[in-house]
Amino acid sequence: MIPYGRQDINQQDVDAVVEVLSSNWLTQGPKVPAFEQAVCEYTGAKFAVAANSATSALHIACLVLGVGPGDRVWTSPITFVASANCALYCGAQVDFVDVDPNTGNMSPEALRSKLIEAKRQGTLPKVVIPVHLCGHSCDMAAIFELGKEYGFKIIEDASHGIGGSYQGHKLGSCGYSDITVFSFHPVKIITSAEGGMALTRSRLLADKMALFRSHGIRRDPDTMLRPDEGKWYYEQHELGFNYRMTDLQAALGFSQLKRLDEFVSKRNQLAEYYTQALAKQPVVSVEPLLGSVSARHLYMIRLKQAERRREVFDSMRERGVQVHVHYFPVHLQPYYLELGFKAGDFPCAEQFYEEILTLPLFPALIEQEVEYICSGIAEIMSTESL
Ligand SMILES: *Cc1c(COP(=O)(O)O)cnc(C)c1O
Repeated sequence: MIPYGRQDINQQDVDAVVEVLSSNWLTQGPKVPAFEQAVCEYTGAKFAVAANSATSALHIACLVLGVGPGDRVWTSPITFVASANCALYCGAQVDFVDVDPNTGNMSPEALRSKLIEAKRQGTLPKVVIPVHLCGHSCDMAAIFELGKEYGFKIIEDASHGIGGSYQGHKLGSCGYSDITVFSFHPVKIITSAEGGMALTRSRLLADKMALFRSHGIRRDPDTMLRPDEGKWYYEQHELGFNYRMTDLQAALGFSQLKRLDEFVSKRNQLAEYYTQALAKQPVVSVEPLLGSVSARHLYMIRLKQAERRREVFDSMRERGVQVHVHYFPVHLQPYYLELGFKAGDFPCAEQFYEEILTLPLFPALIEQEVEYICSGIAEIMSTESL
């Protein structure tokens, strides 16, 4: 089976992890801050807070932006459930903004209409979470302008996006957001096994996220609220969590970061190869905005004959190709239906979902495999629908 995504681990990565194993710290040592610093330097963000997953990073990002009961958080329906769940963890209400039918990314026009309506009803969101699907940046300048006009904060869910850029700036630089979150799950662009990171330009937000990451506990004598009791003394100031990344994970992430540009360029080459090989097929590839560079986490196509998606999917799997579908719309998940969402709420997202298929894409994929995959698609398409 050709997987849809796969990590790329070399000897250097293995050595980096093994070195930590025989060091003094398996966790809370020097590797986590080193990884955070390196991601700051790479992206141009000022501060970084590593966490044990992007899901945890999204949760503490919402908390430090003040999301709580009575607040509203809006995200895209075409995403992994974590982009929406983070708001529910905080006791807030989630709602969705429909997507651009070509990219599957949050549509600034749909956002504007929904904001106008929400303003009338007094239901404006506190935070909006655009998701860079496939690693293709959302139209952040437009979303940022709306944020200024309607007073919401922005968390970019860039779980697919590290290594990409928008208007010449790396995703994670937070030029158009308060916080950007990356995932380092093995199918993503670089991996730390499990892991995530929240980037920001705000020292205050970074400091608070670090607090929530580790039980809400402070150890710095300057920050104590009670009189110092001695060197053992620490204070809990918030109800935090254990969302820490280990040094083993950070060492792997740090080592992988050195190959990030190589990964992204390989992924882009393969994506171009796919697009050319599929040019004559009744499919449209989902492409990044002009002027942006995508990290190309996923290579996604839309089938013009959407009614054949299931057939194409099953037939490709039979050919040993692990095609996938990203994603079943979050508002139609049983848990979200229970909250009152229903089919028809976000028609562009629902239509997009019907059309899409994800083809394998990872750095070690070779052109012969891409050819095999594309000829499979061509063969299925050339037969009459069953
Ligand atoms: C993978 C993913 C997440 C969650 O990442 P984890 O590191 O597995 O918690 C969140 N949002 C999106 C869009 C993702 O693809």
